[in-house]
Amino acid sequence: EMEDTIFSKIIRREVPADIVYEDDDTLAFLDIKPVAPGHTLVIPKKPVRNIFDADDATLIAVMRTIQKISPAVRDAVGAHGVHINSNHEAAAGQIVFHLHFHIVPRHSRSEFSFWPQKDFSRDDAAAIAEKIRANIK
Ligand code: AMP
Repeated sequence: EMEDTIFSKIIRREVPADIVYEDDDTLAFLDIKPVAPGHTLVIPKKPVRNIFDADDATLIAVMRTIQKISPAVRDAVGAHGVHINSNHEAAAGQIVFHLHFHIVPRHSRSEFSFWPQKDFSRDDAAAIAEKIRANIK
């Protein structure tokens, strides 16, 4: 059994949150430390840790809710786009170990910088692509 997280407490209404959407399988609420106004989190009610242990039905339910509420998040703050971001395991910045996706409204490309990208040799890319293909189960 997965350990209880702050998000389980929000689902059970033991901790307050600004809930914007709920259905049988998912919940969406404002992030307590928003990157931008309107920054919303979408979670499954089922306590799944992250992408590495999520089942199909849970991921589908979460993605449906993301699609359903993204236009409302965007329009509520007069934004023009959204980032949909998600961190999986501590190495990637996951702090709350209950699967969640961030919806962050964006007004213009210039308000943030993309993650730094690097050049990569063709040989290195081919070797890594081969390893990924071999590891897919
Ligand atoms: P991460 O696991 O890195 O995706 O980060 C977890 C996110 O949850 C952070 O953006 C936090 O601000 C947010 N968060 C943590 N506790 C709460 C809470 N009680 N209510 C709303 N958002 C929260």
